[in-house]
Amino acid sequence: MSVADEVKDRIDIVDFISNYVQLKKAGRTYKGICPFHSEKTPSFVVFPHTQTWHCFGACGTGGDIFAFLMRHEGLDFSEALRQLAERAGIPLAPPTPEATESDKRRDTLREMHAVAAQYFNHLLRTSPSPTAQAARDYISRRSLNAGILGQPEDISTQARFH
Ligand SMILES: [Zn+2]
Repeated sequence: MSVADEVKDRIDIVDFISNYVQLKKAGRTYKGICPFHSEKTPSFVVFPHTQTWHCFGACGTGGDIFAFLMRHEGLDFSEALRQLAERAGIPLAPPTPEATESDKRRDTLREMHAVAAQYFNHLLRTSPSPTAQAARDYISRRSLNAGILGQPEDISTQARFH
């Protein structure tokens, strides 16, 4: 069973949505004022048997407990999963060693690119070598804005663009 299924198993959608919407029992379903569009008569329905919800009004949205929290709080799925798993008391697996390793490699590469960008930017702006002069001449011939050379304090911005 996936963590998402386990969350759905442990948290009752009617209980959960009741934290956000005042629900009234209507036969086998629960009805309330839709939190996602403005309305006076309730067209927001929660279905306990399928653990889903649907708005039969203007917005026509619907889904499961995750879709509700994502839309209500503006979260992405992984954040909604994290919050609901915590609420359900289900420990989320810590990141695998592979994931940690690949994060570290990505950070190192980013740092390398930033340093390289900074180095080449520095050469382009200040090196007295004929090659750097040729590059500066080329840039001014192309009538590129001098700002493209960047300022020393722009290094971080420059690095991000490389
Ligand atoms: Zn609605």
